[in-house]
This record gives sequence, structure tokens and C-alpha cells, in this order.
Amino acid sequence: MSFSSLGLSAPLLRGIFERNYLEATPIQAAAIPAILRGGDVWASAQTGSGKTAAFALPLLQRLAGAHRERGRFVRALVLVPTRELAAQIGDAFRDYGRYLPEPALKTLVVYGGVSINPQMMALGGGADILVATPGRLLDLIAHNAVSLAAVATLVLDEADRLFALGFADELARILALLPAQRQTLFFSATFPPAVWSFAESLLRDPTRIEMPAAAADTPDIVQRAIEVDAPQRTQLLRNLIEFHAWSRVLVFVATKYATEHVAEKLRRAGIEAVALHGELSQGARTTALADFKASRVRVLVATDVAARGLDIAQLPVVVNYDLPRSPVDYPHRIGRTGRAGESGTAVSFISAETDAHFRLIEKRNRLDVTREQIAGFEPCETAPSLPATTGGVKGKRKSKKDRVREAAGGVATQPASGPVAPAEPVDYFPLTPRIPTQRRTGR
Ligand code: AMP
Repeated sequence: MSFSSLGLSAPLLRGIFERNYLEATPIQAAAIPAILRGGDVWASAQTGSGKTAAFALPLLQRLAGAHRERGRFVRALVLVPTRELAAQIGDAFRDYGRYLPEPALKTLVVYGGVSINPQMMALGGGADILVATPGRLLDLIAHNAVSLAAVATLVLDEADRLFALGFADELARILALLPAQRQTLFFSATFPPAVWSFAESLLRDPTRIEMPAAAADTPDIVQRAIEVDAPQRTQLLRNLIEFHAWSRVLVFVATKYATEHVAEKLRRAGIEAVALHGELSQGARTTALADFKASRVRVLVATDVAARGLDIAQLPVVVNYDLPRSPVDYPHRIGRTGRAGESGTAVSFISAETDAHFRLIEKRNRLDVTREQIAGFEPCETAPSLPATTGGVKGKRKSKKDRVREAAGGVATQPASGPVAPAEPVDYFPLTPRIPTQRRTGR
């Protein structure tokens, strides 16, 4: 559908045409008119669907037509789970709105991990649009730097991720400070029961928008599953990067340690690589991502901090060096490539230890990915048989973090009812297999 038929103003149309957005994506076609009318929206929106513009464009239009009260007030509040996503959404608001008439709308982005003082200063006089992570927003409220009393629109982006990261308490505290009369826009990729009931409690007579389930089988992403013994993965990764001359690769690993370790090994082999994980300083996180986006480094080795929402243009390859713990995260990870109509490749390394878990990922995402072996890297390990004494079932043990998330009401284990998206049962894979593998004889 063309953008011009959606009721957007000429300055906004100019901004998006310059960005080469020729047609509205399905979520944009459905959400923009509903948001312009002022109603609530409940959208099951997948990564890469164009949802940022779906809420940013109509919000900009509504805000441009009305003036901001003096004081520490904010008119539109966008809550997101990660700092990188916050920065990305702030940039999108500024970019889409650049031809709006003066006075320009004030968009601010606030998140933790950096000094609070510049954010407090910037909030002097309030803001039209505030994009925030929940913890830092509460800090700013505690410092009296911002008031939510005049928020006319609340956007919750990646709401399921907000819950999974244990932000439920912070959200409740923020909601208590918002005016009851407001527009609420709720975007979530999945709707486990906790997220479902949260959405129901927040939204009034919402326009429901259901996009197809996460596109794990998108035709634009070639999915490969390569069998390899775990200790050979870094060497195989090097070989693949060099053999295919991949210009840029996002590699997902399971732990902070692994990001540093794999990046270091690649650097020693002459391949520019950086690590990205949640415990780096915010400066280091921003630099790592900016260097990767600008192609100053070839490989970004990341934990799932990079799995959701991040928009890295023209990223040709994603590698699951470690498989995602939950099958729900698989489409999010591979969705970092093949964005906005481009094609991409997603490679998963499968060892004897993780074969059963990959089969579960395939089953949950209705996939059937052909197993490959690469000459020189044929696996020689076999899957362990679990001794009865372990008492556990492979693939079902939950980590401490998962148990904390569940206690926080974050992760669903019961199926949901309702029309938007079936809740995914979450399946777990132990990060550190406890049973040593056995070598086949004869090799
Ligand atoms: P998002 O899901 O908001 O992260 O957007 C995914 C990617 O699609 C981003 O690179 C956007 O710039 C791009 N995009 C969003 N809407 C459109 C559109 N209508 N036409 C082309 N590209 C778009």
C-alpha cells in the first residue's frame, strides 16, 4: 500500500521517500491509520517488519500538531528493553521527522550504563518524545528530572523482551505514574501468558494487528546447519569467513566469556572481530556496534543482547556458534540478516551435544534444515547417553537466570489462549553440558 493513502503529512512523506520507503509494510498499513485516529493498538509484530516507522510516523504527525507544556513534561514515552534499541529508535524518530516544520520536536534517548547528569540536563524543559529503558527512567524520575504526568501516548516496544529481562516491577512502577487517559501502543513478537494479561490490562478497545509468526522459514534467508565438533567451531568459522569472503558476520555465542574468547581467536587469525555483551561499559557497547555497522570490523561476536530489534543494514550472514537456549529466539537471531527485502544466510553449528536441541528448534519453528558436513571438519564425537543418576532430561534443565525470570512472571510455560499468537512453550538447553562427550573409536 502506498504511504500517501495513509493520511501522513507531506513533510513526513518527504522524509520516508528519501529513505527509499516506497510502499508501506503490512504493519505500517494497519497501524498508521489506527494510531492517527488516537486509538490503542495491540500488535504482534515481528522483528524486521517495519514496526518502528509504524508507530513513529503517526506519533510524529500527532505531536507536530500540538504544543508541549512548559516544565519537565514528556508527551510520548517509548519503553524498550535494551540500550541499543533505544538509540536506534531515537535516531529513527529524528530521521523521519527532519522535514517537519519548526519548532522541531525534541526527541531524547535515555538509558543506563552512562552518566545520568547529561540526561538530566537534556531533560530540562521536558521532551516531546522520550525513548527510555525502564530502570534509567525510574532513576530520572527519582531525581525529579522528568514528570510522566502529561504523557499522551505510551509505546511498549518488544514487550515480551521487557518481561523476559525481568522489567515487570519497573513497568508497574512507571505505569502508576502515567495518566489514565492516554493512548497505549503495545508491540510484542510473542504473547506468553504474562505478556498477554499485561496487554489486556493496559489496552482499551485496541485495534488488533496480527502479523504472521516469526519468519523462521523466510525464503530470503538461506538456513544451513553444519555438523561440527564443538572444539572445531572457531576454526570452521574462520574457514567459512575466508572461503565465502563474507564481508560482515554476526556470530551468536552463549556467554560473555565466549564473545571475548572467539573474537580474540579471530583477531589472532587476522580477522577483525569485536565482542558485544551486556557487561561491557556502554561506551564499549556503542563503539562495538557502530564499528560493525560502519563495516570497520568484519565480525561481531555477541550474546543475545544483539538478537532482538537491532537493525544492521546489509548484514549478509548470521552464525549460531552456540544455539539459542530458547527456540523462540532462533527466528529473532536469524532475522538480523535478510532485513527489508535483502537476502541473507543463517548458519547454525550443530554438535553431537546440541543435535537434539536443534531438532527441538526446528520442530517449534516448523523447519527442516538439511544437515551438512564440511570436508576437514567432519564430526567425530557422539552424543552422550545420560546416566540415570543425573535425574535431568537433556534440553530441559533451566538456568538460575531462567528461574529468576519465571519468578518475575516473565517466561511462560503454560500455553496461552487467544487470537494473537500462541504462547511458545520455552525449552531449555544447558549452557554447559555436564556430560563429557565420547570419541568414536577408529579416528
Ligand atoms: P524495523 O522492523 O522497524 O526494525 O525495520 C526493519 C527495517 O526495514 C529497517 O531497516 C527499516 O529502515 C526498514 N523499513 C521500514 N519500513 C520500510 C518500508 N516501508 N520500506 C522499506 N524499508 C522499510
